[in-house]
Amino acid sequence: MRASRFLIATLKETPSDAVVVSHQLMLRAGMTRKLASGLYNWLPLGLRVLRKVEAIVREEMDAAGAQEVLMPVVQPAELWQESGRWEQYGGELLRVKDRHTNDFCLGPTHEEVITDIIRSEINSYKQLPANFYQIQTKFRDETRPRFGVMRAREFLMKDAYSFHASFDSLQSTYDEMHQAYCNIFDRIGLDYRPVLADTGSIGGSASHEFHVLAASGEDDIAFSSESDYAANVELAEALAPVGERPAAGAAMAEVDTPDQRTIDEVAAFLQLDPSQTVKTLVVMGEANDEGEQKLVALILRGDHELNEIKAEKLPGVASPLAFAPEARIQAEFGAAPGSLGPVGVSEAIEVIVDRSAAVLADFCCGANKDGVHLTNVNWERDIALGRIEDLRNVQVNDPSPCGNGVIDIKRGIEVGHIFQLGTKYSEAMNATILDENGKQKPMVMGCYGIGVSRIVAAAIEQNHDDKGIIWPAAIAPFQVALIPINLHKSEAVAENCEALYAELTAAGIDVIYMDEPKARLGVMLADTDLMGIPHRVVVGDRGLEGGTVEYKNRREADKQDVSVDDIVSLLR
Ligand code: ATP
Ligand code: MG
Ligand code: MG
Ligand code: MG
Repeated sequence: MRASRFLIATLKETPSDAVVVSHQLMLRAGMTRKLASGLYNWLPLGLRVLRKVEAIVREEMDAAGAQEVLMPVVQPAELWQESGRWEQYGGELLRVKDRHTNDFCLGPTHEEVITDIIRSEINSYKQLPANFYQIQTKFRDETRPRFGVMRAREFLMKDAYSFHASFDSLQSTYDEMHQAYCNIFDRIGLDYRPVLADTGSIGGSASHEFHVLAASGEDDIAFSSESDYAANVELAEALAPVGERPAAGAAMAEVDTPDQRTIDEVAAFLQLDPSQTVKTLVVMGEANDEGEQKLVALILRGDHELNEIKAEKLPGVASPLAFAPEARIQAEFGAAPGSLGPVGVSEAIEVIVDRSAAVLADFCCGANKDGVHLTNVNWERDIALGRIEDLRNVQVNDPSPCGNGVIDIKRGIEVGHIFQLGTKYSEAMNATILDENGKQKPMVMGCYGIGVSRIVAAAIEQNHDDKGIIWPAAIAPFQVALIPINLHKSEAVAENCEALYAELTAAGIDVIYMDEPKARLGVMLADTDLMGIPHRVVVGDRGLEGGTVEYKNRREADKQDVSVDDIVSLLR
């Protein structure tokens, strides 16, 4: 690629709205530009990286025997009504109407659509197992889009869905996908860990997330000092109705930063919109617990019309909160609306708010000493609740739940998530097969997601210095920056650069030839460093007199003179 024909859109200044380094560097290197909140344009440089990640993901999916499909972004509401998620999915689901006033949504995930395909295409156990994937745009109306493409509203995901005649078959595909994910992250060159994720009611080790370790990560991962045990501390949030935990593709609202939230921030988080009616408030937890009482007061604080308040007892929790109307709570705590101060002083509790307005999320909300934690849950009343593994208050040096070693906690960025769905969707949507005995039964399903666009940002979080990005070779937009000195003055430089450019290109090496005749050397060096190009070759008259060019690796400080004749084989 010639720089004269390529949009190099580097910025000197760090844009003030970018807080994490990957977001800053993606803007500064000219990879992306913000269109609107959570919506990003990919410029040519960024797209080259995205496509490289995509290619690796595709190769490993193909190698694992998955078949590529492509499903529409826009999905009919009927399918979501069939699965029950039209009502259950929260505000992340963007609902739209067409000109005939039919309801649609922008797909945040594709369980419904793939199940709809498969129920008409597959009807015998003999056609199973089968695994289908796509690499495609997803839309989630995130409460707080942030960190650039890391938490965008529109983003690129690889999502795969497997179908089986038995749970054993699901387990073996699940294990293959686990391995394929390791292959992908190994090839990209990331420092990552597979970690146990919330499995909800399904139990066992039926869900894993893949986390790239980075200080800017939004999740806490608990590691054992003496085994491979690693778990998302989010497991703490695993109080949810049986059979209704959010699937890998489902919405899990923010578990916010652990600093204390003020009431107004929590109210904003809960989207307590005065125009909405809160139909039923279910409070779970121990009575006389200050944190949950405060939360109740908080929820009641708004102008919400409350038809009913229920208290429920959780397994393992001594007694249900003695619920109280707003006046009583406020009297007990002497709290005037909006005056409760920071929320979150108590042990863990859960508050679930059910709303009559189906377009709003149901929230499961816990408060502990770190502040308020909110989780979006799918919700049915009459379903039992189960506690999975409580890591909520886990601390560094606590004994590991695996029995070996003590806990260390690190931050992680979730780049992948695999999940054993079981028959949740196949039952709801009547996706059945005939088994060996000619009996009709629901297919068993798994789903497997990778954040393709998030990986680009995560890779930068792990690979940068004060000059800019340092791409792992496998996903670099270009392998080599070819930089002339005084191109407009020296014929020898021009000739040698053209020859090298042709030779490197012929050898299948991606080169960016900085061929703008009057570009300043310092600017070209700074730009190609910022853009993270792994190898740099500088061609100048002085070197050429001795038959050499100057080579530098982006990761190393030293430069070396290399003979013009050897440079191509060195880079190959
Ligand atoms: P998070 O916990 O970060 O919100 P999630 O658990 O909601 O992610 P999944 O439903 O498991 O996400 O989707 C599969 C993958 O898609 C995630 O592992 C992540 O890499 C990616 N992903 C999810 N949400 C976003 C987003 N808003 N922007 C970019 N990538 C995302
Ligand atoms: Mg997930
Ligand atoms: Mg998650
Ligand atoms: Mg999410």
